[in-house]
Amino acid sequence: METLNQDFIHKYSLLGCVQCGKCTGGCPVSLRAHLNVRQMVHKTIIQRESEDYEKKRLWDCTTCSTCNILCPKGVKPADLIMGMRGAMVEEGRLQPALRDALESTLKHGNPWGKIREKRSEWTEGTDIKNLSDGDEAELLLSVCCTASFDPRVQEVAKALVKILKSAKVNFGVLGNEENCCGSEGKRVGEEGLFEILMEDNSELFKKHQINQILTISPHCYNSFKNEYTGVDFEVQSHPQLIAKLIEDKKLTFSVEVEKVVTYHDPCFLGKQNNVYDEPRKILTSIPGVKFVEFDRSRERSLCCEGGGGRMWMESEARGVRLAEMRVKEAVSMNVQVLATSCPFCLLTLEDATKTTGNEETIQVMDIVELAVCAI
Ligand code: SF4
Ligand code: SF4
Repeated sequence: METLNQDFIHKYSLLGCVQCGKCTGGCPVSLRAHLNVRQMVHKTIIQRESEDYEKKRLWDCTTCSTCNILCPKGVKPADLIMGMRGAMVEEGRLQPALRDALESTLKHGNPWGKIREKRSEWTEGTDIKNLSDGDEAELLLSVCCTASFDPRVQEVAKALVKILKSAKVNFGVLGNEENCCGSEGKRVGEEGLFEILMEDNSELFKKHQINQILTISPHCYNSFKNEYTGVDFEVQSHPQLIAKLIEDKKLTFSVEVEKVVTYHDPCFLGKQNNVYDEPRKILTSIPGVKFVEFDRSRERSLCCEGGGGRMWMESEARGVRLAEMRVKEAVSMNVQVLATSCPFCLLTLEDATKTTGNEETIQVMDIVELAVCAI
């Protein structure tokens, strides 16, 4: 343990920590679980082994990175948590559902336990170009595992396809050749799995001469943009491209969408990549939409608790889920639509409308689903 703590101290520059507690103070998960990230940093520095219950708390972290961003000393507590998780994964100490997700990612290229051959089933009956079949396109639409297999998120992919076609964007997909980006594996501490996927995907992109990628998931976006090394492509998230299409007048809206809408910032787009303005630009460009801002928005936004591998983990925390808090906040603002731009946020928030009894009161939609109503 001592050697491991020494490694962490150096790897994550922990000695800069002044124990100010800004990390814990800003941690959204600490609103509902006993996750004390300042204490974790401190215990690592003084080489004290964490109690077993504290190690369990590690898995409550959503890797939203608020603590990394708030630390005045440049310490990265979220990275320490990923490192600590990695040590637990090596000892085989992870929840069975998470283990299955990692095995499925290695075997089938997705964490959802689905066979690779079904990845592009959602495109059947469409005329989307498939680069794996030899079609050529300027832009690769990286669909993401969740949008490929989850029926609810497939609707988002289909809406995006309609928007791209309406704006005459020359795009294609990789069909069944597409692979998981590896983001969630990295966040649960499976760095080796991430490296394998990064290498495989980089080869694949090279083979198809891809130099522009459009993502649906902020998690793919963040990995491609910030974590893939030695690659030569540009990456855009779907709100960035849609906002640009509106600005260039390549995408025009002609139908009024009479809805009061608020927007939940996904952590991997907002906090981690400063993509705050583009989604708001889209919403305020849709005729008829009345946009209302959450009090906790942009840098202060709450997390949905879907990131950091949490889609495959049960939390023992007893408090109200953050997604439920978010839905209740939106209901109190009398909005009809809670919009977002991330598959995990969409699923967790939609589930929270059901668990809070607000299924009939409020609708959760991706911004592209609202945009498609206006063309
Ligand atoms: S915010 Fe940074 S300096 Fe302050 S307690 Fe957390 S890790 Fe230490
Ligand atoms: S990454 Fe987010 S959830 Fe995890 S400890 Fe930091 S602030 Fe809390």
